Amino acid sequence: MIRLTNIQLPLDHNDAALENAIVSMLDINAEQLVRFDIFRRGYDARKKTRILLIYTLDVEVQNESSLLEKCADNQNIKATPDLNYHPVAKAPDALTERPIIIGFGPCGLLAGLVLAQMGYKPLILERGKEVRERTKDTFGFWRKRELNTESNVQFGEGGAGTFSDGKLYSQVKDPKQYSRKVLEEFVAAGAPDEILYVSKPHIGTFRLVSMVEQMRATIIELGGEIRFSARVDDLHIKNGQVTGVTLNKSERDDGEHIASRHIALAVGHSARDTFEMLLNKGVYIEAKPFSIGFRIEHEQSVIDQARFGPNAGNPILGAADYKLVHHCKNGRSVYSFCMCPGGTVVAATSEENRVVTNGMSQYSRNERNANSAVVVGIDPSDYPGGPLAGIELQRQLESHAYIMGGSNYDAPAQTVGAFLRGEKSEQLGTVQPSFKPGIKLTDLSDALPDFCIEAIREAIPEFNKKIKGFSFDGALLTGVETRTSAPISIKRDNNTLQSINTQGLYPAGEGAGYAGGIMSAAIDGIKIAEAMALHMNEEQSK
Ligand code: FAD
Repeated sequence: MIRLTNIQLPLDHNDAALENAIVSMLDINAEQLVRFDIFRRGYDARKKTRILLIYTLDVEVQNESSLLEKCADNQNIKATPDLNYHPVAKAPDALTERPIIIGFGPCGLLAGLVLAQMGYKPLILERGKEVRERTKDTFGFWRKRELNTESNVQFGEGGAGTFSDGKLYSQVKDPKQYSRKVLEEFVAAGAPDEILYVSKPHIGTFRLVSMVEQMRATIIELGGEIRFSARVDDLHIKNGQVTGVTLNKSERDDGEHIASRHIALAVGHSARDTFEMLLNKGVYIEAKPFSIGFRIEHEQSVIDQARFGPNAGNPILGAADYKLVHHCKNGRSVYSFCMCPGGTVVAATSEENRVVTNGMSQYSRNERNANSAVVVGIDPSDYPGGPLAGIELQRQLESHAYIMGGSNYDAPAQTVGAFLRGEKSEQLGTVQPSFKPGIKLTDLSDALPDFCIEAIREAIPEFNKKIKGFSFDGALLTGVETRTSAPISIKRDNNTLQSINTQGLYPAGEGAGYAGGIMSAAIDGIKIAEAMALHMNEEQSK
């Protein structure tokens, strides 16, 4: 097939327009066109009154090779690349050992699925509960303030992204087209087909729940095994080589030991106890930069109007998002992160007596408010003190937010107007908070280090120049947003993907510092599965 890129058509184009554009771009007769698929559809909304749809199409035509030759100089006309996933290995018939995957978030899910598809029958260990039980616990916390520290927004089947907006795009380089494999697996598990072609696909919370269940069933069908409430509390290492794990240790119980020399560590950014255990075991860990800030909420209609003007509400465009960045006078950068159109702000702690914000939405994105994190980049020089010092800072900020919120899991909040003026908020503006269990109006200026407050105060009016209404008095800030990514990196070798000082251990996904979001974590899961499979075959053939 031939891939045509950068086909621009008006938002309200008719059905025939795509066909006409193909015929004209390739300079062929309509009869020569056999069929076409939309590979990607995005939009350009820079001119609100003239929003354009931008298509990438895969086209089947007669005389394909001569046409490609004729159009060789046109950068927008090329042969369609191979998008099929090609497994790199196959498990030996007599497999002597099963690989273990710790964590069943997007990274562990894709690592487990790909290993199972290649015949390696992985054993997946997940500290949280299966997704339906987990959903009850998570919503229970939001409604009743009863936190289950092992089953919540961060922990349980599906990982951190399960109660989310389900945004599925990432900016990681992906020359091997792994993202296509991820999207196809998601569609096979029940995600809407459109995620394959819209430029910013998203799934929403409820669909993610059933997809995750379906993917679990596929892994089991292929011989894999998934154990819930199976928290890895110890890693066995002998002469620099992992040899197994211990599950669910307690004061009264030594826990269960499971042997394996091939262990993927896909534990996400909130597995703080696991990071402590790994550091004590001598696994090499470094502190890394991350970001902290607040969630900001506006009415979605304000954002739609600012982005799409008269086209606000057009169903093809959906609820508008935004992406903003500002470089401040104090040298810090402030940026919007994990923007959730038509969604809600959620309580995302996994530890008692702490408050952390995040955002989620449903597929329809039709809640009243838009929310996004507004965060400031910080780095290890801001939190000196060893590999886990960033976690200590996160904990301090989250505990302080808990107290500011009234010590009952309500989050501290402030209207944007009051925050910019440096006054305590006495009453809400027009934006009604979506955070559950609730918020407490206060002064957020000591919720973060001074340089962060200063940077956010400078950035919000700057953002208003791009999104009119952003600095509106009645918009709402809720805090604190501390778990934007892992504050650590568990270093691995670039070729083998194994820990630089612990053979057979594959640090992966967001918790190890190799992903930031559902798609990049899932892609990393595929890479890890491939590295494990190749290494296992090499070892077994010795
Ligand atoms: P995780 O998803 O964190 O999974 C790690 C898993 O490991 C967890 O299930 C945990 O229970 C388990 N685990 C931890 N320790 C142990 C242990 N010792 N033993 C056994 N199991 C263990 N990203 C996007 O791209 N789009 C979004 O719209 C989006 N929205 C989000 C909304 C919310 C509310 C949150 C919290 C996150 C959101 N993210 C989003 C971020 C995204 O969820 C993460 O980047 C992604 O889930 C990371 O995947 P992972 O597999 O590396 O880790």
